[in-house]
Amino acid sequence: MTTAAIIVAAGRGLRAGGGTPKQWRPLAGRRVADWTIDQFQGQVDQIVLVLSEDDRDAWAEFENSDLILAKGGSDRAGSVRNGLDALLPYGVHRVLIHDVARPCVDLQTIQQVLEALEIHPAAAPGLTVTDALWTGNSSIVTGTQDRAGLFAAQTPQGFHYDAIVSAHAAHTGGAADDVEVARAAGLDVAIVPGNADNIKITRPEDFARAERILGTDMDVRLGNGYDVHRFGDGDHVILCGVKVPHDRGLQGHSDADVGMHAVTDAIYGALAQGDIGQHFPPSDPQWKGAASEIFLRHAVELAGQMGYKISNVDCTLVCEYPKIGPHAPAMRNEMARIMDLSADQVSIKATTSERLGFTGRSEGIASLATACLVKS
Ligand code: MG
Repeated sequence: MTTAAIIVAAGRGLRAGGGTPKQWRPLAGRRVADWTIDQFQGQVDQIVLVLSEDDRDAWAEFENSDLILAKGGSDRAGSVRNGLDALLPYGVHRVLIHDVARPCVDLQTIQQVLEALEIHPAAAPGLTVTDALWTGNSSIVTGTQDRAGLFAAQTPQGFHYDAIVSAHAAHTGGAADDVEVARAAGLDVAIVPGNADNIKITRPEDFARAERILGTDMDVRLGNGYDVHRFGDGDHVILCGVKVPHDRGLQGHSDADVGMHAVTDAIYGALAQGDIGQHFPPSDPQWKGAASEIFLRHAVELAGQMGYKISNVDCTLVCEYPKIGPHAPAMRNEMARIMDLSADQVSIKATTSERLGFTGRSEGIASLATACLVKS
């Protein structure tokens, strides 16, 4: 059974303020559309993103992604029809149609709609209305309205693909949503429980509300690492994966890369998963002379397995010599390569300790690191 989602993102949405269509405005560190698309990744086989022809940057950005792109229509129904057309070659059985302006949609709602489609040709989340309802003009209540049997409609609205394609083909005139189109074609639409957090960003203040909702799930973790290695004989040191010529070498069981060890421990620390010594015991001869890249890769993979992305790392090397500055760009690139990050997520800096203490006396090099991990 092939399932697709159509995310309707062609609207101009300027009521929400900011001068930019709301789907491209920032929300909790990303754009509204990014949150929305992410919620459907992994839940469906294909995602169609319906874009306005005016959003040229978005077309360029998503052109080489795994999303299918479709052009917006003259109204919402036209956009949905274009999205449905774009799915024609994919043999889709079920389709979810979702407003890009609902970035807080939860996986349970998506799953409940899909489950209801096993029995019904159409299903959509609805929230029972709990507030008393009035009729009125702009300032005066003119009557009350019985709320029994009333629902506030949400998306994603789910349909058997062939049924909603026929319904849209037959539909003339406007429609508030795809449920209206489906009902006009005689389809039964099942109601599944909506979620009060699945708000539609419409007004400027909705951004703050959506940030609060998304923020409750945000899991940000910090870890620190600290390491020291002693100088001994040698003609180079390895720091953050880069070979730096020096009149001494660093002693240690592995390659003694003090910077990489501190970063590795910072990642383990953020995960509350011990330290390098615990995962790679110095008593184990197989790690003698080992490239520290093995340790760092292990910490990065553990983070991925536990559902965390590394947001950034910051590493400080403490020594009088060798001078770090000329090598820092190469160190950033090498650390970024090992961690699958971009270089701008990696900071490598250095300080002396004003000739004080063991680093000041050039007896060894110390390193401190911080890592920030975000639940993905
Ligand atoms: Mg070490």
